Amino acid sequence: MGRAFKTVILGGGVAAGYAALEFVKHGINHGELCIISEEPVAPYERPALSKGCLLPEDAATLPAFHTCIGTGAERQTPKWYKEHGIELVLNTRIKSADLRMKTLLSAAGETISYKTLIIATGARVLRLEEFGVAGADAKNICYLRDWNDSRKLVDIMAECRGGRAVVIGGGYIGMETAAALVANRVKVTMVFPEQHCMARLFTPEIAAFYEEYYKKRGVEFIKGTVMSSFESDAEKKITAIVLKDNRQIKADMVVVGIGIRANVGLFEGQLILEKGGIKVNGKMQTSNPSVYAVGDVVAFPLKLYGDVRRLEHVDHARKSAAHAVEAIMSPEKVQDYDYLPFFYSRVFTLSWQFYGDNVGKCVLFGNPEVQKFGAFWVDKGILMGAFLEGGNKDEYLRLGTLARLRPPVKDIEMLAKEGLAYPFFPDVKGKAPSFSPDLSVTERSQVLLDTPPSYILQLSAGIAAAVGISMVAVWYAKKRRRW
Ligand SMILES: Cc1cc2nc3c(=O)[nH]c(=O)nc-3n(C[C@H](O)[C@H](O)[C@H](O)COP(=O)(O)OP(=O)(O)OC[C@H]3O[C@@H](n4cnc5c(N)ncnc54)[C@H](O)[C@@H]3O)c2cc1C
Repeated sequence: MGRAFKTVILGGGVAAGYAALEFVKHGINHGELCIISEEPVAPYERPALSKGCLLPEDAATLPAFHTCIGTGAERQTPKWYKEHGIELVLNTRIKSADLRMKTLLSAAGETISYKTLIIATGARVLRLEEFGVAGADAKNICYLRDWNDSRKLVDIMAECRGGRAVVIGGGYIGMETAAALVANRVKVTMVFPEQHCMARLFTPEIAAFYEEYYKKRGVEFIKGTVMSSFESDAEKKITAIVLKDNRQIKADMVVVGIGIRANVGLFEGQLILEKGGIKVNGKMQTSNPSVYAVGDVVAFPLKLYGDVRRLEHVDHARKSAAHAVEAIMSPEKVQDYDYLPFFYSRVFTLSWQFYGDNVGKCVLFGNPEVQKFGAFWVDKGILMGAFLEGGNKDEYLRLGTLARLRPPVKDIEMLAKEGLAYPFFPDVKGKAPSFSPDLSVTERSQVLLDTPPSYILQLSAGIAAAVGISMVAVWYAKKRRRW
């Protein structure tokens, strides 16, 4: 028994939802497109799982945050898919793929064939068992990647009010769930091997601000070590975690956020892989011309830096998905994917955004005491990355545009003093500013416009591409504060 579709999207997460929207915009016939997902629910805005879903009151729940509400488009409920003739095959795990025969085989034994396949399988969480930790199948251990994980976390958190959680991992998931646990009146101890939180992005100085903020809300940090085992009771519930130095920490529940791996297993030996992901070209096309890949699972050419990257962020999932569909539906029009890395987080009343690349020297500016500060990364005299806590819409807009334009920075001390007010484009009236050589013609021409530097970021027609990217992100952050 089998079904056949013109296009199959494998995976039902963020990228799948945004790809479906793009197909609808281009116009597809009923019955041509199918989305296959292991999850029981239609594609949703995954970041909500660690934000709105974990609020102590008025928590977000489905169907409130199905895609593509995150960027202001219509909410794609199962009814939406039905109305647009898109087959939504839920609760269905694909266990093997034969790219030569263009078929997928489900765990239930159904064969689904396609002409074009879009791989949107995202990533899976790393589990403690993979590190040889015994007892890691206990009832009160939570991970957070999908809808089912979030339901379990919400239930266990409710049972543990007034108790203590140990959060293992100091990245995104660890920091966001720790904040949510505190809001739900669960005491938190965070344990991670690095010297400070968010080690992949934050410098020790930036991390110190957030750690201090958390400490004031009762969070304890145990850094530079890892857990080695658990103490459990007769009901297979963890009662304490044991650290490598034999210290024991009481725990009524444990949340694990120790990273993810791209779901590439089905395609090993069939597609070229790189950096742990499926290698694609600027059209999001894999080494098999009938197969595209999008979102967390891809290793793609990051044009801006002449590099291949795999990014685990929602903005990239949305944009790469739309780009792949554009490449499939309008191949004659589509350019190579030209992405500016962007990510954000919201914890307690704090909110930050980051654009670009955190390479080179980190220059801090602003005042952490009033929760308004930022950082620029300057490499070989060029601004590469920009971070801001507590910014407003215009400031985040500016941040994104600067990271895209990569202006030269001559005076580091002045940059630290002036922050966003630094005159990045001093030559803009009349003379050509000296930009990094690989800026596109459009990007260069924008900053040559006769505009005062302080308003350069508001050139609507001018920096349309860069501003467009930032605006969607800022709008999303403001409008959808809860996810
Ligand atoms: C809790 C949480 C909070 C986050 N917060 C932020 C944030 O604040 N900012 C940010 O930028 N990013 C955030 N992210 C990351 C962001 O959600 C991801 O980058 C994004 O979801 C990636 O989209 P995707 O479609 O590639 O993968 P996913 O959204 O993970 O979707 C993959 C889908 O494929 C399905 N699948 C996989 N294998 C199979 C198979 N064999 N058969 C059938 N189905 C399969 C999965 O079940 C899943 O539905 C967060 C992630 C999580 C988990």
